[in-house]
Amino acid sequence: MKVKIGTILIWSFLSVTLILFLWAKLSGGSGIVFSWLFVSQLFSLLGATLLALSFVLSSRWRFIEAWFGGMDKMYHYHHLLGGLAFVLLLHHPLFLILEALPAIGIAWRYLWLSNMLPYNWGILSLYSMALMLIFTLLVSLPYSLWQKTHEFMGLALLFATLHILTITSDVSRFIPLRLWIVFLLLLAASAVIYRRFLYGLFGPRYQYLVKKTRRLGDIYTIDLVPTAKKLFFRPGQFVFARFSGMGSEIHPFSLASGPHEDFIRIIIKVLGDYTWRLDSLEPGSPATLWGSYGTFGDGAFGDHDLIWIAGGIGITPFLSLLIDETQNTKSRQIDIFYCVSSETEAVFDQEIKRLSAQKPGLTYHLHPTNVCGRLDVGRLTKLCGGLSNKKIMLCGPGDMMNSLTSQLSSAGVKNQNIYFEDFNFK
Ligand SMILES: Cc1cc2nc3c(=O)[nH]c(=O)nc-3n(C[C@H](O)[C@H](O)[C@H](O)COP(=O)(O)OP(=O)(O)OC[C@H]3O[C@@H](n4cnc5c(N)ncnc54)[C@H](O)[C@@H]3O)c2cc1C
Repeated sequence: MKVKIGTILIWSFLSVTLILFLWAKLSGGSGIVFSWLFVSQLFSLLGATLLALSFVLSSRWRFIEAWFGGMDKMYHYHHLLGGLAFVLLLHHPLFLILEALPAIGIAWRYLWLSNMLPYNWGILSLYSMALMLIFTLLVSLPYSLWQKTHEFMGLALLFATLHILTITSDVSRFIPLRLWIVFLLLLAASAVIYRRFLYGLFGPRYQYLVKKTRRLGDIYTIDLVPTAKKLFFRPGQFVFARFSGMGSEIHPFSLASGPHEDFIRIIIKVLGDYTWRLDSLEPGSPATLWGSYGTFGDGAFGDHDLIWIAGGIGITPFLSLLIDETQNTKSRQIDIFYCVSSETEAVFDQEIKRLSAQKPGLTYHLHPTNVCGRLDVGRLTKLCGGLSNKKIMLCGPGDMMNSLTSQLSSAGVKNQNIYFEDFNFK
């Protein structure tokens, strides 16, 4: 249901743009004439609509998270809409060129800078977007650098706004369409301004101090205590965290403690340039947390039987869910699968064993793939005594989640009974 609201919203925005565009054509006197020019204008307006929505989806406004089924899904939509917007906007000048040919001189001004400023804004917008996409698709950059290439998208939006507002078109001529497009651009601009300039200061932020750090192989456990206001969260949620002394980067991490504990526990696997620096983190260091976000834990609402499948560091949200489960009075079956490549990597094996022994109905399965092979639906069905009427929650490497989700769908598990948390926002 939640995913539907977001999807309905996207289609509604596109429909309003389409209706206003056709209305503008009908009210213009010339009626609807199907030509390259018509298609080009339509593509540009639909592209601008998707581009605006894609900015809104990266804003981190919490109130829209639930409409899309969680922040990770919002980012997926953000990428999808951004990509589609680019394809549509790219066709805008291409179709104008087809309309202009064989007049090469006119066609050229849709591709390169000329003395016509309104056209130049459009060209600059498209090239800024293209640059960002090249960095995303063709160059493999560390996440922090790749994120910086997103600044090109802010520029693309600025140039697109100048193009739309200065060019003579249906938008300048037909007031309802103009108002709608200005509304979309304002929406996108406020999303960019909030995310880029205001979020750090006015987002939902909490000050904590590092109380204790512990390292087990390439995994750090960090306990944090609040200096003032305590962050409230539901089990399975995550925060964006910035640790003092480790630069200004903000990274997402699941909360691995119970929601009623006095401290917050974050568990981090060393992966890239940021997490490598965790060695320098000392007790007493200040940390800022923004959140809480995510709807992964919604899968555990109600009294349904559950199957939890964690791959490697994907165990973190389940630790919080498990602590919470031992403290509630629900009576149900939960099968917990902790998949690791070998038993030595099962850093939280003892903790899960201890917690799952605290309440009847909790069954723990350690699944080292070097001994048991990859977990598949056949094995799941056998070990859990069937899959029907159970909700299945997954968090782990992308390949594992994709493979298991498609196997579960083939085995007849409905999509609405599968919940997953994706640790990859890129
Ligand atoms: C909702 C969510 C919950 C997560 N929970 C945990 C957790 O509990 N424990 C844990 O170890 N890891 C968790 N991660 C992953 C963690 O954020 C990355 O491993 C970490 O940011 C890696 O940073 P890096 O610079 O060391 O590595 P890089 O090599 O730079 O990044 C590796 C990958 O991490 C992701 N990433 C990096 N930086 C960011 C960022 N600022 N914002 C969003 N994604 C980023 C990207 O997918 C990137 O491809 C979570 C991610 C998400 C999205």
